[in-house]
Amino acid sequence: MIKKSRKVRDYKALTKALPTLRYLNPSSVFIHLQNGRCKTYDLSVKEGDHVDLGEVIGIRHGGFFEQPVHSTVSGTIGSVSKKFHRTGRKVDCIEIINDFKDTYHESVFDRTDEEIKKLTQDDMVDIVREKSLVGLGGSGFPTYIKLGTKEKINVVVINAVECEPYLSSDYRLILEHPGRVVTGLKYIMQALNVDKAIIAIKSEKDPLFEVLTQVLKVRFPELNVEVAKLGNHYPQGWEIEVFKWALGIEIPFGELPMKYGVIGFNVSTAVGVFDAIKHNLPVTKRHFTMTGDAIKFPQNIRVRVGTSVKELVALCDGYKEDLSEILVVMGGPMMGVSTVSDDVIVSKTTTSVIVLKNVEYKEEPCVRCGSCVYSCPAHLEPVQIMNAVKRNDKDVMKGLEAYKCIECGLCAYVCTSKIHVTDYVRKAKIKLG
Ligand code: SF4
Ligand code: SF4
Repeated sequence: MIKKSRKVRDYKALTKALPTLRYLNPSSVFIHLQNGRCKTYDLSVKEGDHVDLGEVIGIRHGGFFEQPVHSTVSGTIGSVSKKFHRTGRKVDCIEIINDFKDTYHESVFDRTDEEIKKLTQDDMVDIVREKSLVGLGGSGFPTYIKLGTKEKINVVVINAVECEPYLSSDYRLILEHPGRVVTGLKYIMQALNVDKAIIAIKSEKDPLFEVLTQVLKVRFPELNVEVAKLGNHYPQGWEIEVFKWALGIEIPFGELPMKYGVIGFNVSTAVGVFDAIKHNLPVTKRHFTMTGDAIKFPQNIRVRVGTSVKELVALCDGYKEDLSEILVVMGGPMMGVSTVSDDVIVSKTTTSVIVLKNVEYKEEPCVRCGSCVYSCPAHLEPVQIMNAVKRNDKDVMKGLEAYKCIECGLCAYVCTSKIHVTDYVRKAKIKLG
């Protein structure tokens, strides 16, 4: 039987109704010096140095950009050690021992509304570049590059769909801090000289629509911002789907949305823009979902960037199961990366950690049911790509356009034979370079 599905069980009820817990004073933070985009770095501090909150302690080097590295506490520099990154790789991290004083560095200061009104696009681009802001929904793409576009933008879209199961930190962020989200959007609109914006949320009945509509009406009557309810299907939060359903614009694969007069930012990134422009502050804290059926008390937590996930597990009262019987997933369960350890650090782009009972599914042979083909949002043929990977036939992988896969995980989710189809498509993408 064909199992066509764009619906996945969402499990958000585990955390959605709970107020965000604050855990902002770990004894140490561990700041990633490398990440998925930046392989090398230089440090401007050494062990024993004192640093302030928000101070630059080094620089990461990417292929075509550089990222200043900031301290997220005030305290003393410790040593460099290897820790797991959300990509599943071990990378260098520098410890900063918290002095619990939260002494802000002199580079952190407030701008008045009048000062902000005078900022140009170039000024704002320089600020978010210096503050090292990146896509906080997980993409990690440098925000200054997007904000610096010279394309004519007609509409800004804030993506608040958060379609991955289990995740609800963006939801809580909007519910608890709608003014910061909308002010961040306002600054983005100013930078891009745009007079129209959309905040895209899911269509399910939740308070976000009411909250945002009220805040826009009462606090931002001058802004032309619509709150758009989109569908509940997965992956509705995929940017291409958001633009299609919110604006009716279909962006062809490989094309930049900016060419079509539209640009999208995640909710947390909008708040990052607010902090950078208003307070000249880098991302030192983030909303984060700690959840899963193997954790005792799932929570949304506001954490200091650099906090050890092990500490957050303890905050949630630990695991229900023995550590050897669980699976730790960084990011959402559909697109995230599972790790062999919980020795992971929360980075700027870590949206969630999901701890699941490690149920081993026995793969059965493919029954050619076609479910993966009918469900693929990128209109690919995952089963055929899988077969090409097994034969190591790169020409067929290319012909089947495996490179268009967005790694949404749906093909594996719907597979009646419990085959990890997405893993095969990922392998095809790697083989195709
Ligand atoms: S092939 Fe890629 S895009 Fe298509 S369903 Fe599988 S993971 Fe999603
Ligand atoms: S890979 Fe799975 S979903 Fe796809 S055709 Fe085979 S059995 Fe069906």
